[in-house]
Amino acid sequence: MVKTKCSECDKELSISDDSVKGEIVTCPDCGSDFEIVNIAKDKVELKPAEKIGEDWGE
Ligand SMILES: [Zn+2]
Repeated sequence: MVKTKCSECDKELSISDDSVKGEIVTCPDCGSDFEIVNIAKDKVELKPAEKIGEDWGE
């Protein structure tokens, strides 16, 4: 498990070890989506995910 913080609400996010680059993670607290741009043993780098054609009605 890799820990990082949500850049929207500062909530701690736990990223599963088997997550891969390009995977989307969702903050359980504010619901923001982030894309994993880089993942290492104890460090993960996220960027806000771009919504691609998915419309959940906001
Ligand atoms: Zn959040």
